[in-house]
Amino acid sequence: NQGMGSWPARRARMTPERVALSYRGRDHTYRELCERVNRLASALAASHGVRRGDRVAFLGVNQPSAVETFFAAGLLGAVFVPLNTRLALPELRYVLTDAEPAVLVLGAERDGAGLPGRHLPAAGYEALLASGSPEPIDEPVGLDDVCLIMYTSGTTGHPKGAMLTHGNLTWNTVNLLVDVPLAHDEVVLISAPLFHIAALAQTLVPSVLKGGRVILEPSFDVERTFDLIESERVTVMFGVPSMFGFLTRSPRWDKADLSSLRHLLCGGAPVPEPLIRTYQERGLMFLQGYGMTEAAPGALFLGAERSVDKAGTAGVPHFFSDVRLVAPDGSPAAPGEPGELYVQGPNVMPGYWRRPEASAEVLSADGWFRSGDVGVADEDGYVRISDRIKDVIISGGENVYPAEVEGALYEHAAVAECAVIGVPDQKWGEVGKALVVPRPGATAAPEELLKHLDGRLARYKIPKYVEFVAELPKNAAGKLLKAPLRELYGG
Ligand code: AMP
Ligand code: MG
Repeated sequence: NQGMGSWPARRARMTPERVALSYRGRDHTYRELCERVNRLASALAASHGVRRGDRVAFLGVNQPSAVETFFAAGLLGAVFVPLNTRLALPELRYVLTDAEPAVLVLGAERDGAGLPGRHLPAAGYEALLASGSPEPIDEPVGLDDVCLIMYTSGTTGHPKGAMLTHGNLTWNTVNLLVDVPLAHDEVVLISAPLFHIAALAQTLVPSVLKGGRVILEPSFDVERTFDLIESERVTVMFGVPSMFGFLTRSPRWDKADLSSLRHLLCGGAPVPEPLIRTYQERGLMFLQGYGMTEAAPGALFLGAERSVDKAGTAGVPHFFSDVRLVAPDGSPAAPGEPGELYVQGPNVMPGYWRRPEASAEVLSADGWFRSGDVGVADEDGYVRISDRIKDVIISGGENVYPAEVEGALYEHAAVAECAVIGVPDQKWGEVGKALVVPRPGATAAPEELLKHLDGRLARYKIPKYVEFVAELPKNAAGKLLKAPLRELYGG
């Protein structure tokens, strides 16, 4: 087994007594992690019939069973499908119906009411584990086998599963370690959700490779973060810009002892330059990463050496990845000129789960992935992410696709036409604003539309603002024009 599933055993061979994972004050060594993963894998095979290629879904906030399920699925050659806990019930149902997992493992805080398929409730988890054999399983898993399916929404309004192979994750780890010299003794705080690629691939997986200690937190909390940094002497942290922003607005920011921090990884959304400066004033440098789920995720990286003079750029491609910027006419964009950013490399996904057309739209035959982002390179090749072609709003690191929100709005009888745009927001980077043309005679208030969305869509997708308008700008063909809308209403 060359895949992710073998990593706890490989680590346990080298450093069995070192702490792999700390959760709510309880430490798990690499020996324990390895044994628990073996047990879980053999029990999932015996009791739930999980075989090579089957999907194993997980729904829950960060907790040890999420980590164990990821590695156990890998041991069996099965595919881990972590679900976004923030999704509303209909959204979860859609994803589960699409992924068709052999079993859905539930976190301690969840029940599976209303969700299709077989479930493993948290109450039965330890008993199942105890029924499994601690002996290693030897399934021939290769780097080209799919390891993970992560769902991302899309311009079409329905989420699709980005398939990532064991090789994709392995190469992303190599790429990351070239730029971030993680030591064997890192204390890695993970409070971003493991159901997003950054926490999983940029912190958990590299920490297991190096034999570091992960402190797993169910969610991000400002006070807890300061407590843990100080008491556990945290050395590595990943966050989206809004998480790092929350820390600076806390009364503890000025007094906190942050001297243990070695590597602060920030990405997932544009990193505002004032935020970079605020951290610099405390002697803290962001390692800025630009990437996407489909690239497992690292594409560009701004390492420590150039983080000051190239601040505001997302850096250069990772060692084993390539990036090109393509001008609107299809030619390579010259330095200083904007171009759509394409990524190629051993970290780029083979495609979307059961979506050959959607895959062909973004992946060329020679493996270039089309990002939908616009970048401008300087003379040294440092790329600034300057714009987006794809219609997405990034709110607190979560991606919101307007088509999905518009689709849900259209289900309300008072909505004749609507469009959702992103507007700048101090706290979340961007938030959604819905512009609605009401049906003649309809009298729905904004609050009623918001109530209508509640339960249909994840909270983070619900627009912060709803504005009724007389009409929406369209071109001659009747296609909605978002750019003028942003100009009119985006301020
Ligand atoms: P996801 O698949 O959720 O990881 O979202 C990927 C998208 O997030 C990218 O296509 C970008 O639009 C955005 N993104 C990620 N990192 C950065 C960054 N450092 N700067 C600007 N945008 C970013
Ligand atoms: Mg993201």
